[in-house]
Amino acid sequence: MPRSDVTEASPYIGRFAPSPTGPLHFGSLLAAVASYLEARANNGRWLLRIENIDPPREQPGASEQIVSALERYGFEWDGPLVWQRDSTEHHALALQALLDQKQAYWCKCSRRDLASAQQARVGAVYPGTCRDLGIAASSNLAVRVRTMNDAIVFDDRLQGLQSLSLEAASGDFVVWRKDGLVAYQLAVVVDDHLQQVNHIVRGVDLMDSTPRQVWLQELLGYRTPVYAHIPVAVHADGSKLSKLTGARALPLVGVEKILIEGLCALRQSPPRALLEASLEEIWQWASANWNMAALTGLTSVTANETTHLP
Ligand SMILES: [Zn+2]
Repeated sequence: MPRSDVTEASPYIGRFAPSPTGPLHFGSLLAAVASYLEARANNGRWLLRIENIDPPREQPGASEQIVSALERYGFEWDGPLVWQRDSTEHHALALQALLDQKQAYWCKCSRRDLASAQQARVGAVYPGTCRDLGIAASSNLAVRVRTMNDAIVFDDRLQGLQSLSLEAASGDFVVWRKDGLVAYQLAVVVDDHLQQVNHIVRGVDLMDSTPRQVWLQELLGYRTPVYAHIPVAVHADGSKLSKLTGARALPLVGVEKILIEGLCALRQSPPRALLEASLEEIWQWASANWNMAALTGLTSVTANETTHLP
């Protein structure tokens, strides 16, 4: 059975959780818009969490840029802005729970050890070298969580039933880094639990992470949220919009037109008259007409779709 414990009676709590590795671009806007409108359509709450758990990858000023761009585009989040690094204590408690249950273990493999082990196997699958070595805790070692061969199954609202064996796909994966920082997968799961997030709408590029997150939820006794993975924005040549492919920061002028382009990319078919409308009127139209089902089965959309306006 697909794992999703959220009942129809639970109040909807969604979120947008950008990493401050750079400013928002058009692809991030799509995830923000879709998660926001879906929460509003369900009379739910929409939380904003800055995932600042990886200081080495952070770009100075990016958090402030993200927040001011969201404000400029007219997003209104519920409750205070949440900084992921503020929950470090909870991340450490979750790690300890996994270690206490013997679901996680310390790993002393170096990058070089792993690289040579992988020469013999296809893909970046951890071979389980340290699984049963009983290595003692140490501040400069990573911690990995045990995986199983059983498939992790979840029913994505847009991409359908997903099933993956973690043992085959990644092997035991890192939940605590050897540099002493929490790994992304554990931080996200703990924070969603702390904030009682029960609906996650995000880009399909993150769907790879979902089975690992569902597995951690199960081990930690958390509820599994409902997932909807929306298409990612791609350039006209099909490459994904990202900082790496030179996606521009979201402009802070002419935001009305860009929001409409976002709605077009999200297959919402806004009327051409909306090009003359105020930001507030655009949001009113978008909230009243939001239809996430229009994205069913789509994994990519091209970035500029204004020419498709009816
Ligand atoms: Zn190891």
